[in-house]
Amino acid sequence: MALPNYVFFNGRIVRYNDAKVGVLTHGLNYGTGVFGGIRAYWNAEAQQLFIFRPLDHFRRFLESTKLLRMEFSYAEADLTQALVDLLRTENYKTDCYIRPLAFYSDEIIGVRLHDLTPALAIVALPFGKYVEKDDGAHVTVSSWRRVDDNMIPARGKITGSYINSAFAKSDAQRAGFDEAVILNLDGHICEGSAENIFLIRNGVAITPPITDNILEGITRHTMMTLLREELGLTVVERSIDRSEIYLAQEAFFTGTGVQLTAITRVDYRKIGTGQMGPITTQLRELFFNVVRGNVKKYQSWCAPVYNNERRH
Ligand code: PMP
Repeated sequence: MALPNYVFFNGRIVRYNDAKVGVLTHGLNYGTGVFGGIRAYWNAEAQQLFIFRPLDHFRRFLESTKLLRMEFSYAEADLTQALVDLLRTENYKTDCYIRPLAFYSDEIIGVRLHDLTPALAIVALPFGKYVEKDDGAHVTVSSWRRVDDNMIPARGKITGSYINSAFAKSDAQRAGFDEAVILNLDGHICEGSAENIFLIRNGVAITPPITDNILEGITRHTMMTLLREELGLTVVERSIDRSEIYLAQEAFFTGTGVQLTAITRVDYRKIGTGQMGPITTQLRELFFNVVRGNVKKYQSWCAPVYNNERRH
């Protein structure tokens, strides 16, 4: 993977190679960091790079820093501006992935969350698909359970807790599946390793509530809005039993990385016909039009990077 040229690091844009951390860095040793994942989409016709919902992503990012008692003077608008400046410096004219990261930078021994100094960085790099089979993933129900709110809050995107996702993802892939579906401690369907989940059952869209140890996904919110407003579906947030996925007509993952990935098989059982279903197909087409800034109603979600924009 090609590295970025620049990084926004502690308030300034510097060369990526000049932003260094020491081996004893607290965040590296104890997982005391939080991160985000944002996409920017290049619209060739408009010659514009659109960042998708940056304010909402940075709001969640700052909420995660708050969970770890980090204090920053930035608001989400400041971080959005820093990102725009970074993308202009990189002069990217292609789809990008953006990674904000905050971590305790002290080089000390001692596990705690107080009396520490947070650092903040943002990098961006050209990026395509996160999963190869986004039109028909074969998933397995993981034997790993999702971290609970009283262990490590799943609504915070906390670096250390992604070991939980990594266990589930690696075991699934090494067993020949594309992704894992992770259950809560109480056995309900929670999410994928880095994505929220939706089922379509009897014409209704169902997704777990935010009190079921999920990450409060921005793409989840986007899809709920599009399903309701554009596809006219009822969307219900409720706990989902494991066996419901076997009976669903359609299922899909949502997330900044996976965007919208159809789940067509679970542990060798077909979901619906075993092919991407009509609602998922329609939603996917709409989503990709929205994120590229082509749907007027949702253009406020797409922040333009360059000044030459021709909004339509
Ligand atoms: N769940 C987890 C565990 C994730 O890591 C992600 C990716 N950020 C998501 C869900 C999807 O969130 P979003 O749509 O905001 O990217």
